[in-house]
Amino acid sequence: MTGHFRNWDMTTSTGTKIRQQRRLETAIPGPRSRELMARKGAAVAAGVGTTMPVFAAAAGGGIVVDVDGNHLIDLGSGIAVTTVGASNPRVARAVREQVEAFTHTCFMVTPYEGYVAVAEALGRLTPGDHEKRTALFNSGAEAVENAVKIARAHTGRGAVAVFDHAYHGRTNLTMAMTAKSMPYKHGFGPFAPEVYRAPLSYPFRDGGLSGAEAAGRALDVIEKQVGAANLAAVVIEPIQGEGGFVEPAPGFLPALASWCRANGVVFVADEVQTGFARTGDWFACDHEGVVPDLIVTAKGIAGGLPLSAVTGRAEIMDAVHAGGLGGTYGGNPLACAAALAAIETIEQDGLVARAREIGSLLESRLRGLDDPRIGDVRGRGGMIAVELVRPDTLDPDAALAKAVAAAAHERGVIVLTCGTHGNVLRFLPPLTISDDLLHDAMDVLGEALRA
Ligand SMILES: *Cc1c(COP(=O)(O)O)cnc(C)c1O
Repeated sequence: MTGHFRNWDMTTSTGTKIRQQRRLETAIPGPRSRELMARKGAAVAAGVGTTMPVFAAAAGGGIVVDVDGNHLIDLGSGIAVTTVGASNPRVARAVREQVEAFTHTCFMVTPYEGYVAVAEALGRLTPGDHEKRTALFNSGAEAVENAVKIARAHTGRGAVAVFDHAYHGRTNLTMAMTAKSMPYKHGFGPFAPEVYRAPLSYPFRDGGLSGAEAAGRALDVIEKQVGAANLAAVVIEPIQGEGGFVEPAPGFLPALASWCRANGVVFVADEVQTGFARTGDWFACDHEGVVPDLIVTAKGIAGGLPLSAVTGRAEIMDAVHAGGLGGTYGGNPLACAAALAAIETIEQDGLVARAREIGSLLESRLRGLDDPRIGDVRGRGGMIAVELVRPDTLDPDAALAKAVAAAAHERGVIVLTCGTHGNVLRFLPPLTISDDLLHDAMDVLGEALRA
């Protein structure tokens, strides 16, 4: 299997070769990116920020080529989206065939097979062998909102419990569910009501509480401050994304899920970032055998095309009246064709196992850095992070994370930061990246830390 992922000149389906090597032709950003950034400043709303001031021209394998010809190592996958690569030939072929057949009819007007096939695939792949139903949407936030709608319709209750450091999106309800104010919520309130926040299991910061103890603490808040009888859903990311790749202690998720089952509360796993092989399982819930009532997916689902889904127990999903779920573009045929091709790629190319290999490589390289400012290395599979602190303390060092990311960017490595305190560097490479590129990127990271 691994031979498949050695350095090769990736050829896109149109014959463009993308050299799988970091190579800088200009300073970062180069002159053409600078020109485009100036046009962006004059035409695009200032609120739409960019991690790097660099414009993409092509991408594939583990490389993004910018408009100045620089070859950058991609440790972001467009935020965990291009799991199968950004120009996956299967995805490109499937979308091309679909775009020539028809682009849209609206599934709610005249349905098409691709949508049903994606729903069948999700029913087969998501945790649990109970009878399932799926509804498709466009974005992660939209799917999270719909999971809450479905849970409310099923339970006849209004309240929703979420967790510290959570990220669920940028719409009004999902802003309410998201923890961090700046930049996601600041100035955008008032927010949707009936959203309650519970403490998370955060092994690096909660003094070594076990999963069961941390669950007890969270459930105490939920029982006392909300009341099980008022609660429609508990919504949680099994490994947090934007919140800092926080991986709860073993036992935390199973304890929450079993409490939900006992209390008629819908347990919703937001696997928008963790789903589709990212963590070295099909879904992060699989790691501890947790079976959510509803699972929300997006990002890695469709090789870069906008698609999201809510999949769950038939009796919960079907509690909604006919016509109560949908949207003009939800489950667009191009996105469905892409999703089927992405799923086939994950299965045929062994990308679940590949994510585990990537995780071991990244973890051993990051632990090998042996730097007192690295407080924690965590995550699973192709979702690994380091939390940076002042040496021998838990004090978050956001300035260091920012400086290291900037130094990596200058050297041609796309790396993202995250965390409530902005002090976490996260690594989310496409699972099609080669070991050589990963090693090169880790060398650069070591240099960036020393710089
Ligand atoms: C990105 C993300 C969302 C929101 O998805 P969008 O497609 O940006 O709306 C929701 N939940 C999690 C866990 C995410 O990582």
